[in-house]
Amino acid sequence: MQTITVDKTITTITAGAGYNLKNKVSNGAPGMVKRLLINWAIKCNIFWLAILWLRRPGTIWKVYRKMIKTRNAIWDGNMTKIYKVDGRYHYSLYAPGWPSKAYNNVIKRELLRHTHPDLSAEKPSFIFLAITRKCPMRCEHCFEWDNLNQKESFTKEDLLQTVKLYQQQEVLQIHFSGGEPMVRIKDLLDIIAFTSKKSECWVLTSGFNMTAQNARLLKQAGCRGVVVSIDHYIPELHNLFRGHAHSFSMAVQAVDVAKRAGLVTALSVCGTRQFITQGSLLPYMDFARQLGVQFVQVLEPVQIGHYENQQVLLEETHIQQLEQLFLQVNHAPEYRKYPTLLYHGFHQRRIGCFSGSRSVYIDSAGDVHACPFCHTRSFNIIDHIRSGQHALPQKENQCPRFGRIA
Ligand code: SF4
Repeated sequence: MQTITVDKTITTITAGAGYNLKNKVSNGAPGMVKRLLINWAIKCNIFWLAILWLRRPGTIWKVYRKMIKTRNAIWDGNMTKIYKVDGRYHYSLYAPGWPSKAYNNVIKRELLRHTHPDLSAEKPSFIFLAITRKCPMRCEHCFEWDNLNQKESFTKEDLLQTVKLYQQQEVLQIHFSGGEPMVRIKDLLDIIAFTSKKSECWVLTSGFNMTAQNARLLKQAGCRGVVVSIDHYIPELHNLFRGHAHSFSMAVQAVDVAKRAGLVTALSVCGTRQFITQGSLLPYMDFARQLGVQFVQVLEPVQIGHYENQQVLLEETHIQQLEQLFLQVNHAPEYRKYPTLLYHGFHQRRIGCFSGSRSVYIDSAGDVHACPFCHTRSFNIIDHIRSGQHALPQKENQCPRFGRIA
């Protein structure tokens, strides 16, 4: 494995960049022995669920092996990084915490997918739901750009109905986004209180309005975690990218108060050509480690929304650097204390994409797409609800970018 080196000068500048790193809250990573034991227990749990639901010994072993093979293909090996937050272990943003009913149901869904692909194909395990069109940011890469800051489409009742419809299909995890979902904090709290009885809830935010009190209220309502967008570890560059003079300080504060409230925390960063070419990847991981988050998600820029018709797609050399970072941070022993790195492009280019089949994206106008980055409108959920229908129509199930469904 080729390694990427850290520019310590940049990291030192970052450490003095105006945020307080004192009294850090632990990210919940257990020691090595416990980590291995927990991973072993999770695999036993999967095997036990396979016995319960598949029953035939030949099928149990075959499907179990297939699932472990898929998991290893996603991470390129045995991924053992894991975090304990509020009684549950998390190894990914897109799997509910273990142990939980939602986790077991995700595994059940995957087991059935292997044995009865047609039966499970129409049931997404998680959705991204954009609850508002309002947003105080003006981000360079915004994929909701065309919908922003217009009259709201969803009423609170529409949102509750949408959740209800997807929960009838046993959706297990819901990520609330926008616009900026925290501008609608009162509705968001009510919706999470309703949703969290059956599904794990996450909030995707720029950090706006994430005060200590709001973080505690989110936690009390049943929210499990937050994903905070920070697109550079140098405050001025992040603020420039987000088109807002205070977005960096708001985002860093959001991480801090969310951690203190007992929420799982993740950073999301848009890996632009410039960001990668300037050697910012590893310093960013250093920054994320200092903030004490559990996960970092790197998203590839795509030509939609504010980036439409722009030359933003990564070239082979950028992708190679991202893949090296992904392997290094997740598997090399010297990066054991760094947050887990999610880079979807890694598995999408090898085994296909999970969006469309396992998830859908509902934008702030109510249009249902395969994912936030592939706008493949299938139907409008608001029209559907207001026409009094109680079952969901056929959804988009294809990935137009990577072709293959994993
Ligand atoms: S990317 Fe998110 S935070 Fe940025 S302008 Fe768009 S909706 Fe707002």
